[in-house]
Amino acid sequence: MELSLIIPCHNEAENIHPFVERTLACMQEPTAPCTLELVFVDDGSTDATFAKIMQMMDDVLHPHVRVKGIELSRNFGKESAMLAGLSNASGQMLGFIDADMQQDPAISFEMFAYLKDHPDTDCVAAVQEERHEGAVLKWFKHRFYKAFNAVGDVEIPANASDFRVFRRNVACALMSMPEYFRFSKGLFAWVGFRTHTIPYKPAKRHAGNTSWSFKSLLSYAFGGIVSFTTWPLRLILYLGLLTSVVSIAYLIVVLFEYLIVGINVPGYPTLVCLILLFFGIVMLALGIFGEYLGRIYIEGKHRPPYIARRVIEQEAPSACVEDPDITQGWRAVSEDDRSA
Ligand code: UDP
Ligand code: MG
Repeated sequence: MELSLIIPCHNEAENIHPFVERTLACMQEPTAPCTLELVFVDDGSTDATFAKIMQMMDDVLHPHVRVKGIELSRNFGKESAMLAGLSNASGQMLGFIDADMQQDPAISFEMFAYLKDHPDTDCVAAVQEERHEGAVLKWFKHRFYKAFNAVGDVEIPANASDFRVFRRNVACALMSMPEYFRFSKGLFAWVGFRTHTIPYKPAKRHAGNTSWSFKSLLSYAFGGIVSFTTWPLRLILYLGLLTSVVSIAYLIVVLFEYLIVGINVPGYPTLVCLILLFFGIVMLALGIFGEYLGRIYIEGKHRPPYIARRVIEQEAPSACVEDPDITQGWRAVSEDDRSA
């Protein structure tokens, strides 16, 4: 297969059919690959997502498109679903794309064509030009990229997503990283390779809701920083040094006032303030240590990042494209016919 598109899906039943329809329409484009593999990863959906994926194996009759479905045993998260897709994709080039139609397969094909024309480039990443998000979320994301790039050992371009197409060497490098806590933006930056970025405008979600709440995004962002830098630990060291220096300076001032000037320094409020300050710093330090320790503990178990319940591959299509029932490699059954 020339290109494998990996599509992580969590409760995307209503989006699978439009996504495949759009992808098959894009196969007419001059940028389209000669052969395409669609690797759907059902990440523990509670709706009919996997049934829809299996339906696609019956309905897609394009001679150069194959559909594969991987059903995970539960919801492992998008990052794990992406790894499951990588491990099961057979393409020379591979790409990630969301199932919700926010990202157009035509852009994946453009990225693919760019890689074909530029043998020196290993990866093409689509960067969001504008976001359909509230001002607060936008501000937090902007701050996150700034903070990550300021303290991290690797740099990630602002608004870079995992909407990418890359060569198999990049995929092999990503798969060679067996970590349980995966942060793909960071992983792509860490493995390096020559990456070209192109701008794109995400569309509105076709159906359903985003799986990301503000809380889960915050935890994802914090996890990303912890995964890629030990800078928070160093911050505690600096904080400890700073408080020690300030305490010693204050002690000298108090001793000076008491012994030389003769002021009877009021001890109780000072003590309460200092105890609260140091208690806060110690708890903060313990919290940060705990985060790293917890991750070491989980990583130490060497549990797989995902478990596949089943992997189903489409057989070679029995019909050919000249069949009158088939429109452009697609069994001409509308959603309404099917639900009837
Ligand atoms: N997704 C997934 N597992 C999850 C959450 C999301 O596979 O636990 C998939 C989801 O089905 C979609 C993609 O990841 O195809 C992006 O998710 P979403 O649209 O919710 O994120 P957003 O576009 O809002 O960042
Ligand atoms: Mg989305």
